[in-house]
Amino acid sequence: MSLEKLIENLKGYSDEDIKKIKEAFYYARDLHKGQYRQSGEEYIIHPLWVAYILSEMHADADTICAGLLHDTLEDTVASKGEIIELFNEDVANLVDGVTKISKLNFSTKEEERMANTRKIIVGITDDVRIIIIKLADRLHNMRTLEFKKVEKQKENALETLEIFVPLAYYIGAYRLKSELEDLSFYYLKKDNYLRIEEKRNAISSEYSDSLLEMSTTISDVLNDNNIPNEIKMATKNLYGIYKKVDGGAKLSDIHDLLSLKVIVDDKKDCYSSLGYIHSKYKPVDNLFKDYICNPKTNMYSSLHTTLFGKRLVQARIRTQEMDKIASYGLATYWDINKDNARENMQSDLREKFQFFESLIQINSIFGDNSEFVRQIKKELFGDNVYVYTSKGLCIQLPKGATPVDFAYKVGVGDIMVYAKVNDDAVSFDYTLKNGDRVDIITDNLSFGDRDDLLKYATSETTRNKILTRKRDKDI
Ligand code: MN
Repeated sequence: MSLEKLIENLKGYSDEDIKKIKEAFYYARDLHKGQYRQSGEEYIIHPLWVAYILSEMHADADTICAGLLHDTLEDTVASKGEIIELFNEDVANLVDGVTKISKLNFSTKEEERMANTRKIIVGITDDVRIIIIKLADRLHNMRTLEFKKVEKQKENALETLEIFVPLAYYIGAYRLKSELEDLSFYYLKKDNYLRIEEKRNAISSEYSDSLLEMSTTISDVLNDNNIPNEIKMATKNLYGIYKKVDGGAKLSDIHDLLSLKVIVDDKKDCYSSLGYIHSKYKPVDNLFKDYICNPKTNMYSSLHTTLFGKRLVQARIRTQEMDKIASYGLATYWDINKDNARENMQSDLREKFQFFESLIQINSIFGDNSEFVRQIKKELFGDNVYVYTSKGLCIQLPKGATPVDFAYKVGVGDIMVYAKVNDDAVSFDYTLKNGDRVDIITDNLSFGDRDDLLKYATSETTRNKILTRKRDKDI
């Protein structure tokens, strides 16, 4: 990696932007002079790589500058004031934010550190670019983890899975998420990694001819019907396969181990393509998903259908824009929303990405820092289940959640009478499963306190909402 290689990747940036980025490079290089990475390379190679990864997302110039400077506050004599003076306040805040987020630690117990952890977590909603820079930083560190001691490798890999993989998922950056997962998996369970890699490669070469044939057939039928298209073959990432196998699935049952991405011009073509594809290959009945109508909580959208071929193959039908969003999520806004990417990112972050809404809600409920950290860890960074409202809105809940948790999450807990899941009445202790459609039957006239519901609340957030209601009544 070199300044030249970075500059080469900055096509479409203004001369002024490139000048600023060069200045950031020279400044960071001088500050890190004499520092080396464990690989023996000069330290500056690392921030250069981070800036390069950001340039692949077409990040704005301030973000790329911050990528180059991201370790200067922590590891050199640079100060925030100096960065403001030499660059601007935005760059300085980004570098400061990335420095803080590096100290994010869920296993802490001391009150002071817990208060700090809270500040960091709440702070990440101020400017999502901080998360994106941090993910680029972590990605390069994971790519070069071989030079660290074994103990450090495991520690970093675990932290990546616990904190940075969920963050990549929540901003919708699947390409970053998959690579971070597989790198972590490699350092945590090398034997399993190698075994699954070998099996996946065997399957993908065994079926490569038939997959190619499917892809040609689909492309032909779409072309015959005047739907311009591009088709790409893909395999599921190794950690994704491992999680399914670990959960008891056989490799032959994994319906998305092999997939075809069918990229077309617009939404209407997505739906027409689906019909033409089904006219050629029979779909598996219950595996169709319309994430265009009902995007995931991280705004992922596509049509998913699983086809019977020589083995099961998943087709993901989407537009070019949906495909970009599937790779980098919110970070794609730089590419597709050129003029005011930054504002759109920030407003969509708060309005459309459920993670941030939940985070702000949890922050307002829990006064106590340790309670806040515990809830964030459990509800946002733990295992989740995804269910739908009767109107098709996807709702994220912690694994094990009940209809009572759901009702309080969507704001009708206090007036709930009973719950239906997939059209059947269920008891309040029913455990919600992925894909369940939940309908809460309410009665506006009813109820004083809802202590009767407390025993069905599986999260502290739900419990807190029930108790708050009781207090309001008492007053
Ligand atoms: Mn770094």
